[in-house]
Amino acid sequence: AHLDAIDRLNPALNAYITVLPQADVQAAADAADARYAKGEAGLMDGLPVGVKDLFCTKGVRTTAASKMLAEFVPPYESAVTARLLAEGAIFLGKTNLDEFAMGSANMSSAFGPATNPWQRAGTPDVALVPGGSSGGSSAAVAAGLALAATGTDTGGSIRQPAAYCGIVGLKPTYGRCSRWGVIAYASSLDQAGPMTRSVADAGLMLEAMAGFDARDSTSSNRPVPAFHKAVGKSVKGLRVGIPTEYRAPGLPAEILAMWEQGIAWLKDAGCEVVDVSLPHTRYGLASYYIIAPAECSSNLARYDGIRFGTRESAPSLDGVYEATRAAGFGAEVRSRILMGTYVLSAGYYDAYYLKAQKVRTLIRRDFEQAFEKVDVLLAPTAPSAAFAQGDNMNDPVQMYLNDIFTVPASLAGVPALSVPAGLDSAGLPLGLQVIGRHFDEETVLSIGGALE
Ligand code: GLN
Repeated sequence: AHLDAIDRLNPALNAYITVLPQADVQAAADAADARYAKGEAGLMDGLPVGVKDLFCTKGVRTTAASKMLAEFVPPYESAVTARLLAEGAIFLGKTNLDEFAMGSANMSSAFGPATNPWQRAGTPDVALVPGGSSGGSSAAVAAGLALAATGTDTGGSIRQPAAYCGIVGLKPTYGRCSRWGVIAYASSLDQAGPMTRSVADAGLMLEAMAGFDARDSTSSNRPVPAFHKAVGKSVKGLRVGIPTEYRAPGLPAEILAMWEQGIAWLKDAGCEVVDVSLPHTRYGLASYYIIAPAECSSNLARYDGIRFGTRESAPSLDGVYEATRAAGFGAEVRSRILMGTYVLSAGYYDAYYLKAQKVRTLIRRDFEQAFEKVDVLLAPTAPSAAFAQGDNMNDPVQMYLNDIFTVPASLAGVPALSVPAGLDSAGLPLGLQVIGRHFDEETVLSIGGALE
């Protein structure tokens, strides 16, 4: 059924870059049936899943939505996808994304944009973005082209596309899921997580994805709790903080109204709601857009056409590097490499990169202090609903501003969940974000369940 849906809808949505052959999918499904019959079903047995094309999949082309890796077939399986396979998940294909996961609209893919299956009431001809960078995953899950999908989130790339497509997306605590075999963007921020149709599904899928892996030096060795049991638990008496600094000037009335609605739902469920302050919030975006490009410039140095990436020919070695990188990287990736090398260069390092790292520590401390008083924070996921393809494209700063509510949790490394919270007046989905303490995804999932 999912492959039929892909056949019908993928030409319009472009949610998948690669679809696996029907015979392979069928063989995996038959194997799942056999395990089930023997009573050996795993957590994800038989569940058809899309995989963001940033996870290396053994024998299956993995592109990062870049020309640079357009022909790359990994000889190994990423840690997270290996865990999903071991739990019985069935992969349908590799989903579209912004090139190297850099973006908020899925407009920078070398394989063309992915499109949001939702449309604005009255203007069905205006194609909307599914969000980014995990836009193929969110479009696929929302339109029934996958039951669930993997995403990665560096500064919002699971949560914002989930909000824009009316699905659930969870960025776990940094270190919860192994980064081994996930093509790196900004290694101190990158984190894999589930994108699903319900909070319960997100809990189940995280349980299958998470766990210690010695091959990722920042992987946590904390035990993985039975996350699927967290959903449906009473949230009575839990304390919910409303970060006052997130009431940014100019925030649309509909976003504020949704936020108030979320507060009312949690009060009805027996939560105590209080205002809290995260005083360094206003520096979040600026420090993120220094740290992330800095790490990107370092990570993407490996695509030189010799060890990694496509190769363009030229008469000298430097010429090969230059021609390869000029042909292989798109405009957004190139601009970030330039920004990153600039902020890391001698003479600017202290003024930009070091300063941004100090601010990052202050932002992390803001969260730790808030979590002395409250169990979770509640905020919008994004400052708008899905926008039209082409909007914000000529103004990168406007595009970056879209990440205002998602980057702080990434900088702090804390878990954050986006839950669908209703529709705006144009009939488009909006998302609410639940942010929790380090490694306390369970409380985040319980609160998410109460909001659903
Ligand atoms: N939009 C942010 C960026 O472009 C976040 C991307 C992500 O989380 N991968 O960097």
